[in-house]
Amino acid sequence: MPYKLNGGVYSVRCRHPYCGFNVRFDIDQNIMGVSEKDAEYEAKRLARDMALTKHEAIYGMKHSLKHPEIRRVAGSFDLFGPNLKVVTENSVSYREFEKGECILRKGDDGATICQVVRGSAFLGQNKSHRYNRGDCFGAAALLAHQNRTADIIAGKDGTRIAFYNVIALSKKNPNKAKKLYTKVMEDIFTIISNLEYKISSLEKKLQRNIV
Ligand SMILES: [Zn+2]
Repeated sequence: MPYKLNGGVYSVRCRHPYCGFNVRFDIDQNIMGVSEKDAEYEAKRLARDMALTKHEAIYGMKHSLKHPEIRRVAGSFDLFGPNLKVVTENSVSYREFEKGECILRKGDDGATICQVVRGSAFLGQNKSHRYNRGDCFGAAALLAHQNRTADIIAGKDGTRIAFYNVIALSKKNPNKAKKLYTKVMEDIFTIISNLEYKISSLEKKLQRNIV
């Protein structure tokens, strides 16, 4: 599960017109993530921070480094283990998704509650059931050995999701864990009441057909 960056080199280019800033940074810090994307995000953030300092020292008087282009020019992500320990020690990890990308897949292990940090998401089988910023889903995490019951799809490019490890979070920040439980339960009740509405309208249709 967890990935570790090995031999990472990232180039950071300033997009300001006429600025020649294009510098490579070795990332030899210990960069890890639950997914490759996760680790890459952290590495890019670090490269950008290093570039900000360097750019500020050279061009700080003229302009600041805005929306730099950051690319990985060397390095790879390697799986490492035994990995479960790392996952349970971190109470939250973040990942970004493109529009249409699967955030949760039906049948996957459900160990985390998800919260939309940016963008939106929707239920695979019911597009009208949407999750916006602050909304939570992934109630399977509340039950032991429960797999994901539905696909959840990203609704926008750059949708950022927080994956909360409920066991680790309950220890670290019980208040936050409680809030997430409540939110995810609210989501279940919404889904149930939508289903009840659908069932009753189906029943009415059925009755009409019988009569
Ligand atoms: Zn510049």
